[in-house]
Amino acid sequence: MTLRVDVPGERYHQDLISCQVACPVHTDARGYVRAIAEGRFDDAYLIARGPNPFASICGRICGAPCEAACRRGKVPRVDDDGRFVATDRPIAIRALKRFVCDQFGPEARPADVVLDDVRTFLPPVAANADEMAALLRSALEGKLPLASGERVAIIGAGPAGLSAAHDLALLGCAPVVFETEPVAAGMLAVGVPAYRLPREVIEKEVDVIRALGVDIRCGVTVGRDVSFEQLRRDFAAVVIAVGAKSSRALGLPGEQGPRVYGGVDLLRAAALGEALDIGRNVVVIGGGNVAYDVARTVVRQIAYDAARTAARLPGTASVKLASLEGLEDMPADTVEIVEGDEEGIERLNSWGPVEIERDEHGAVRAVVFRRCLRVYDEARRFSPIFDDAERLRVECDTVLLSVGQAPVLTFLDEGGADVEQSRPGWPKVDPKTLATTAPGVFVTGDLAHGTRLLIDAVASGKAAARSVYEYLTGRRLEADTLTAHLTLDGYRREQGYESIRRVAVPVAEPHERLHHPDTPVEIGYDRDRAMREASRCLDCGVTPVFDGSRCVLCGGCVDVCPTLCLKLVPLSEMAQTPELRRAMDELLGEGIDPAEHSAILKDEDRCIRCAACVMRCPVEAIAMERVTYCTLWRTA
Ligand SMILES: Cc1cc2nc3c(=O)[nH]c(=O)nc-3n(C[C@H](O)[C@H](O)[C@H](O)COP(=O)(O)OP(=O)(O)OC[C@H]3O[C@@H](n4cnc5c(N)ncnc54)[C@H](O)[C@@H]3O)c2cc1C
Repeated sequence: MTLRVDVPGERYHQDLISCQVACPVHTDARGYVRAIAEGRFDDAYLIARGPNPFASICGRICGAPCEAACRRGKVPRVDDDGRFVATDRPIAIRALKRFVCDQFGPEARPADVVLDDVRTFLPPVAANADEMAALLRSALEGKLPLASGERVAIIGAGPAGLSAAHDLALLGCAPVVFETEPVAAGMLAVGVPAYRLPREVIEKEVDVIRALGVDIRCGVTVGRDVSFEQLRRDFAAVVIAVGAKSSRALGLPGEQGPRVYGGVDLLRAAALGEALDIGRNVVVIGGGNVAYDVARTVVRQIAYDAARTAARLPGTASVKLASLEGLEDMPADTVEIVEGDEEGIERLNSWGPVEIERDEHGAVRAVVFRRCLRVYDEARRFSPIFDDAERLRVECDTVLLSVGQAPVLTFLDEGGADVEQSRPGWPKVDPKTLATTAPGVFVTGDLAHGTRLLIDAVASGKAAARSVYEYLTGRRLEADTLTAHLTLDGYRREQGYESIRRVAVPVAEPHERLHHPDTPVEIGYDRDRAMREASRCLDCGVTPVFDGSRCVLCGGCVDVCPTLCLKLVPLSEMAQTPELRRAMDELLGEGIDPAEHSAILKDEDRCIRCAACVMRCPVEAIAMERVTYCTLWRTA
C-alpha cells in the first residue's frame, strides 16, 4: 500500500470538492445537490445554469465527469469489524440536474405546465427565453467592460459554437452563427437520439441563446453558400466550430457500396426524418456510446416499422453490435450496454471485422470477423492483437460503421491557406487561447481537442469567447478564484444519510420504450426521490478543521469516527516512516521536538462529514468549516 500525507495548503480544501474540480466548466455540483437536499430547487437551478448555457441538455445526457469524480463513489463500506465490504456509489448528479432543469429551465414554460406542487412551492426562476436572457445579462452587468458590438462569425451551431456565441453576446460582441443543418445544436440535434434528448429541450435552450441577440443562420454551409474568405473579410474574427461530423471508414473489402453507412449518418437521417435504406438484419461495428445510439435507434426504427406494416415484413429482424473489446473493456457506458441488452441488441464481443461480403448483385450478405485477443497494450495504447484462425461469419443486409469521426475542412481551400494543420484535417491550435496560425481565426470544440463530451465542447466554446474578446478589445482577461471559508455552528446532517443507497433513476420499461422511436427512456426523479438522492451528498466543501492549540490529545474524535478515518499519531512515530517524514518536516516549525507532539491524520476518502468528531470533542478544538469557490473574470 502507498502512503501519502498532504499537509493542507492553499488549494487543499477546494480540491476536495472533486465534482466541481472535474467539471470542465467547474459547475458547483455539490452546491446544487445540497440545495436540492434542502428543497431550494430554484437556487439549485441557478447554480447549475450559471456557468453552463446547456444545463438542461446536460441534465439529460451529460457524460458527467463530476459523477466519476464524486467522493461518495470512493467511500469504502466497512462492516462492524472495520473490514472493507465494497465502495459506495456516486451521487446521481446528472439526474439531479435534470430534476431542477425540468422545473426551472427554459423547457419549463409555460408556467401552467409546471407541476402544481412546484408552482405553490416556488415561482419559476425564468418563465421564458427572454426572461432568462435578461437574468443572464443582469448577472454580468458592470462586471466587465463590454466590447463595442464587433461582429464575430462562428462556423457551426454545435454546443461549442453556441457556447462561444452565448458568452460573446454577453461580452458585448455581435455573433453570427452559420450552420449547414436545418436545425441548431450540432450533434445534440443530429446525433443524440430523441429517446435520450427530447427535441423541445434543445429548442428551448437554443431559444435563450437567440434571445441574447445571437443570430443563428441555419441551412447555410460555409464553403458553399458563403466562403471562408468572405467571412474573414466581413467579420472582425472567425471561430471555427465545425466538430467532427464525418464517419471514419475502416477500409474493409466490400465497404464501398449500398447499405454500408456511417453510424452518425444514420443518426442524422433519423433525426431529420430523412429516408435511409436500412434492411432488417443489421450489424453495427463499434463498442462506444455512439455505436449504442446507432444500434438502439435501428432497434426502434425496426420495431416502429414492424408495428405499422407487420403484415408485409417477413421473418425476424436482428440488430447485432460487434466490438473489438470484451464486455468489461467496452468503452460504452454500462447503462447503454444494459439498456441495449434489454432492448434485444445482440452483443458480439472481441471480434474485429475483416471483410463485408456482397453477393453477385452487390447486396450486403455478411460480415466476416476474426477473434480479437487484446485491444490495448500494457500502457493502455490501442494496439489490437488478432487470432486470424478463429473466424465468425455474421449474415446481415446492412452494416453501420461507428468507429469514430473526423472533421471536414474543405472550406479552408478558399481563404484559409494560413490556417496550418497539425495533421490532415486538424488545425494547429494554441491549447490556451484556441488561436490558429491565422490572425483572428480561432477553433473550438471537438475540432480543437478531438471528440470528447458535450461539456468539454461547452468549456471550449467559453474559452474561445474569452480569447476572441481579448483579441478584439486588446484587454486581457484574468481569472480570480474567490474562495470563502465559513465556520458552521451547529452543523448537522440528515438522519442516516451515510447508509442511504443510490436512488435508481426511474426509466420506462423496455417494451414501452419501443412504442415510438422518440419515447424518452429516462423518466427522471420526482421530488421525494430527488431530495433523498441529494441527501446522500457528502458535501465535500464542508470539512472538520482541527485547532492544535486547543487539542488535549484525548483521542475522542478518533474513537467516535464511524468510518475510522482519523488517526492520532505521535510525530516520533511518523518520523520512522519515510513516506510520512516529508509531511512531518513540513508540519514542524523550528525548535519543535517530535517526541512531544502528535498529528491527526485524516483519510479524506473515508471522511463522510458527519461531524461526530466535532460533537465528541470536549474542548471545542474541532469545527466544521464550509469552503466554496468560484472563478470571476476581470480585465487585467
Ligand atoms: C451520436 C453522438 C452522441 C453523443 N452523445 C453524447 C452524450 O450523451 N453526452 C455527451 O456528453 N456527449 C455526447 N456526444 C459528444 C458531443 O455531442 C460532442 O462532443 C459535441 O457535440 C461537440 O460539439 P461541437 O460544437 O464541437 O461539434 P458538433 O456538435 O459536431 O457541431 C458542429 C456543427 O458544425 C456544423 N458544420 C460543420 N461544417 C459546417 C460548415 N462547413 N458550415 C456550416 N456549419 C458546419 C455541423 O453541422 C454541426 O452542427 C455525442 C456525440 C455523438 C456523435
